[in-house]
Amino acid sequence: MGSIKVAINGFGTIGKRVADAIDAQEDMEVSGVTKTGPSFGCELAIKKGFPLYCTFDDEDRIEQFSNKGYSCEGGLSDLLAISDVVVDCSPGKLGAENLEKYQSAGIKYIFQGGEKHDLTGLSYTSSANHMENMNANGTRVVSCNTTGLSRTLVPLFEHCGSLKVECTMIRRAADPGDSGKGPINAIKPVLKVPSHHGPDVMTVKPEIEINSLAVAVPTTIMHVHSIIADLPSGHGLTTDSILQMWTDTPRVIIMNGSEDRIPTTAEVMEMARDIGRKWGDLHEIFVWEDGVKLVGDRLYYFQAIHQESDVIPENVDCIRALMGVEGNWRKSVAKTDEAISRYYST
Ligand code: NAD
Repeated sequence: MGSIKVAINGFGTIGKRVADAIDAQEDMEVSGVTKTGPSFGCELAIKKGFPLYCTFDDEDRIEQFSNKGYSCEGGLSDLLAISDVVVDCSPGKLGAENLEKYQSAGIKYIFQGGEKHDLTGLSYTSSANHMENMNANGTRVVSCNTTGLSRTLVPLFEHCGSLKVECTMIRRAADPGDSGKGPINAIKPVLKVPSHHGPDVMTVKPEIEINSLAVAVPTTIMHVHSIIADLPSGHGLTTDSILQMWTDTPRVIIMNGSEDRIPTTAEVMEMARDIGRKWGDLHEIFVWEDGVKLVGDRLYYFQAIHQESDVIPENVDCIRALMGVEGNWRKSVAKTDEAISRYYST
C-alpha cells in the first residue's frame, strides 16, 4: 500500500499537532488541513507546506482566504475526495454534522474526545483496543484524561484480570492558548457526579470498573489524576513490581518527585520542554514514583497528563488500525514514537 493520505479537519490545538505527527511518519502524509477562515493559524500550515482548504465548500468563504493572501486549494469536499482518512479535530459537539459529510464522501474518519462514544459506537486507545479498531470505518480517539487513565490502568488490569477504580481528575481550567475559559480564581467541582472521565475508560476497556469525580483548577499546563485502584486478592504485585510494569509500558514516564526534584506539574512541563518536541509537548503520562503505594490490595497513585498532546501519537496508531496496516499495537506505537523523535531531533 502507498502512503496513507490523511486530511485534518480543524487545524487548532489538536489538529496542528496531529498534522506534525503524521508528517513525521513514513507510511502516511498530510493531504491537507482545513481552517474556517483566514487567521494566524494559516501561516503555520503554509510554512509547513500543508495544503490549506476551507472547512466549508461555499465559494465566498473560500475566497476570503485569497483576499487575505493565503492560497486555498478548495473546500472540505475537495480535500475529502483526495484523502483516505480524515482526522476530525473540530471543537467538540460538531461531530454529528461532520460525520454526515464523511459518510457521504465514503472516507474513513477519526473523531476526538470532545465527541460522545455514541457518535461512532467505537472508541480507541493504543494500549486498550487497537485490534478491535482494525479495518473499522470510523472511531473516536478518547479524551486526554481517558487516554491517561487507560495508559496506566490497562496493564494493571491485564495482569490482575479485574480492577475496581475510583479517581479524581484535577483538571486544568483552559489550554494555554485559550482566553475564553476559567476559573481564574476558584476551584470548580464538576457537579455532574460521577464525571464522564472514568466511565469513558469503559468505552475502550469495559472490564475495568471505574468511577470518577472532577474538579477544575486555575492552571493551564496539565491535569493531575488522583487514583485509588482495588486489586483482586492474589494479584502477586508489589509497589516495586507495579512501577516496573509501568516502566515497561510505552508512553509512561516515571520519576521521583523528591530525588529528581520534579515535585509539581510546573517542573514536569519544564522537563517536557527540555525533551525538545514542538510546543513543549509531553506525549507520555507522568507518574510520580514516590506517590505510588500499594497498601494491602489497594493501590494509590498520582499521574499528570499534558492535555494538549498525549492523544497525538494515539491518532497516528489509530490511522494504522482503521487502514488495517498494523495489527500489533506495540509495533505501531514503537514506529510512531521513533518517527516523532527523529522528526524533532533534526
Ligand atoms: P480548538 O478550538 O483549539 O481547535 C478546533 C479547530 O477547529 C479550530 O481551528 C476551529 O476554527 C476549527 N473548526 C471550527 N468549526 C469547525 C467545523 N465545523 N469543522 C471543522 N473544524 C472547525 O479545539 P481543540 O482543543 O483542538 O479540540 C479539538 C478536539 O480535540 C475536541 O473534540 C476536543 O475535545 C479534543 N481534545 C482537546 C484537547 C485539548 O486539551 N485541547 C485534548 C484532547 C482532546
